[in-house]
Order: sequence, then structure tokens, then C-alpha cells
Amino acid sequence: MPELPEVEVTRRQLEPLVVGRRIARVFTTRPSYFFLTPPAALRRSLPGRRVEALERVGKYLVARLDSGERLLLHLGMTGQIFGAGIPGVRLLSSSAGASLTPEEQQQAFRPDRHTHLRLRFDDRGPDLFFRDARKFGKVQLMRPGEPSPRLERLGPDALTARGKHILEGARTRRAPIKSLLLDQSLLAGVGNIYADEALFLARVRPTRPGRRVSRDECNRLASAIRRVLRRSIATGGSSISDYVQPDGGAGAYQDERRVYGREGEACPRCRATIRRKVIGQRSAHYCPRCQK
Ligand SMILES: [Zn+2]
Repeated sequence: MPELPEVEVTRRQLEPLVVGRRIARVFTTRPSYFFLTPPAALRRSLPGRRVEALERVGKYLVARLDSGERLLLHLGMTGQIFGAGIPGVRLLSSSAGASLTPEEQQQAFRPDRHTHLRLRFDDRGPDLFFRDARKFGKVQLMRPGEPSPRLERLGPDALTARGKHILEGARTRRAPIKSLLLDQSLLAGVGNIYADEALFLARVRPTRPGRRVSRDECNRLASAIRRVLRRSIATGGSSISDYVQPDGGAGAYQDERRVYGREGEACPRCRATIRRKVIGQRSAHYCPRCQK
């Protein structure tokens, strides 16, 4: 599943492709759960609108339109958003067989039955495609000022959040700090691997009740979260997750995970044996010696 770094990398790659362009025509597939706004309404409402900005809110992409409307895009599990003839726009999962191969994506792409949304622009430049073989992605058009429960329930963005945000969300809670970090209303965008890695860097044990995590530790955690996310963005998401960029070539994948998926291996800091424990139905990996 694409995490915050992959979504941010996608945003940075798409931004120059869409911002400032005016939509001329919209092609969609038939109504399905992919469309939170009916496809006919998208085909009717979007033409004539200019894209003013492409933002990221948690794991959502939000295109701001000159009409004041917002187009919400979520990649789901296997969603790919990319421009015609522009290689390497969307990251590909190395494990998702349904995704396009780098070669397929770099060739002139022909929309197929999985291409649920296609935007054509009035400058006759490259079209934009949103393809999703499993349809867990989402697209929604919001009217000016229309509230979005999906966006408004999100806490501060994990990429910029500070220790005080974690402290405020955790200090009255009995739940394990690991579960709290995954709570998107406390911090938006922290996935399972990133939580484990940040807890390791901050030397906080994932099972610790939220209310027992000190102000100093919250500061260390926020800083560690920013560090692992930024590092992942810098490597196109490839340092942590199993996503690789189509144009990354051999050797682009660097596994920089220190504890996640390393149960039974030696802690890179103290050589104790890394443990795995299920917390809130998710696997947590930690060092029993240097994470207190
Ligand atoms: Zn250790």
C-alpha cells in the first residue's frame, strides 16, 4: 500500500504536469466504488477547470481547481497516476502483479479497462491517467467549501508534526504508543514500517502506554518520524517500502530498515535479538534492550 513518502513522491512528480493546465475533456469507466463522485458528474463538471495546485493531505492528493472545487485522489492499494509518455511518474509496487511494468508505462500508454479516469487538457499536451486494477483507489470532486470528513479527521501531517502534537494526543491514553502513532487522527501518514523504525530511533518501546511517554521522548519520536519519512522520500520510497520507481534501475532499492522485518536478527545498535510482537493486530518489531 502506498505510504506517505510514495504519495509525496507522486505529488512532486505530477505537480509540474498538471498545475496551470485547463481540463478539456474527461474519460471514465462505468460507475463503481472507485468513484465517490459519479463518473457522469466528473465528465460534466471538470471540463473548463484549471488546476491551481496539487497538494497532499496525509495519503490523499488534492487538486485545487480555479472554481474553488477540490478533486480528491487516493491511490488505494495499486493505484497509479501518470502522464502520457512521461516515464516514472507513478511508483510501481515490486510485488503487485497487476501494476504496469516500467516498460509498459514508458511506452505510449493506451488506456485499458483499469484506467478509470483520464484527463485531457486544452493545451493538447500529455493526458493524465489514473489506473487501478483493484479499484481500492478513490476519486471525489468536492464543491467549494464542502467539508470532507475524510480530510478533516486527519491529524497534523507526519512530515511536519512536532513532539507536542504527539504529546497532546498520547498523554491521556492507555493504548500502546505504537497504536497511537498509527492513529491517523493523531498524526496523518505514519504507516506500520515507519512507526517501528521511528520508535527504534527514538529508543521507545512500542508497547509503552501513550500516557507514559515523556515530552522528551515525544520530541525524539517526532524527529525520528520526520527523518525516516524524509529519507524515504529522498529515495523515492525505496529505502523503506517494497515500492520501486520504474526508472530506478538495478541497485536503486536499498533496504534501510533497522528493525522492521528483522525479527531474530541482531539489533544494529546493541546486538540484542530483535523481537516481533502483535500490537493492535499489527506486527511491531523492536529491540528489547535499547528500546525502553
Ligand atoms: Zn538494541
